Amino acid sequence: MHHKRSNILVVLIAPSGGGKTTIIRRLLTLKPNLEYSVSFTTRQPRGAEQNKVDYHFITEAEFRQKIADDDFIEHALVHNHFYGTSKKYIQERLDDGKDVIMDIDVQGAKQLLVSGFPAVTIFILPPTLNELGQRLQNRKTDTEEVINLRLRNAREEIKKIKEFDYLVINDTVDQAVEAVGNIMDSERNRVDRYRNTDVIFFGG
Ligand code: 5GP
Repeated sequence: MHHKRSNILVVLIAPSGGGKTTIIRRLLTLKPNLEYSVSFTTRQPRGAEQNKVDYHFITEAEFRQKIADDDFIEHALVHNHFYGTSKKYIQERLDDGKDVIMDIDVQGAKQLLVSGFPAVTIFILPPTLNELGQRLQNRKTDTEEVINLRLRNAREEIKKIKEFDYLVINDTVDQAVEAVGNIMDSERNRVDRYRNTDVIFFGG
């Protein structure tokens, strides 16, 4: 019999443009047991984003119905649009022996922690506000007004870093991916994640 560990839910929190998407894509290719929680949102698709892959793009009425049905483990209004995470999806993946990674904002991450759901929270920060502005510009998918709103919100989000477990500075994608991967590996070895270690050890 193998030693059993409970699976981990990893929450990446970062200002928009912080590079989470790239980091997550890379981690998904490196870690076969990891699944991405695709969020629901009322915002419009951006660039080459695909429905059900990047987000489930839904209407505000559909979103409100999901809130009423208690479908979300957390949800928030971010930059004037609703975003939410499916409770069922996460629970099913974890029950199925998968680790799950999600990408949410500060408000959502706090709700998740308050709900008592065990999660490892990692704040991803670009090295400077300037750099964040550059990344949003380079993305060429947002208007100046949207970029300014996102930068204003970033100032508020950064004040909340201390509420989370880990901070990774996203200097380069490679370093950030390695850091997040290392955190996941360490978290997996926490004593409290093992189940019935003694029984298995003694051959039970
Ligand atoms: P974007 O529109 O740039 O994809 O995301 C904007 C912000 O919404 C980012 O900070 C992102 O992490 C956050 N976000 C994405 N999905 C969710 C979600 O399901 N819940 C919450 N609370 N925030 C989300």
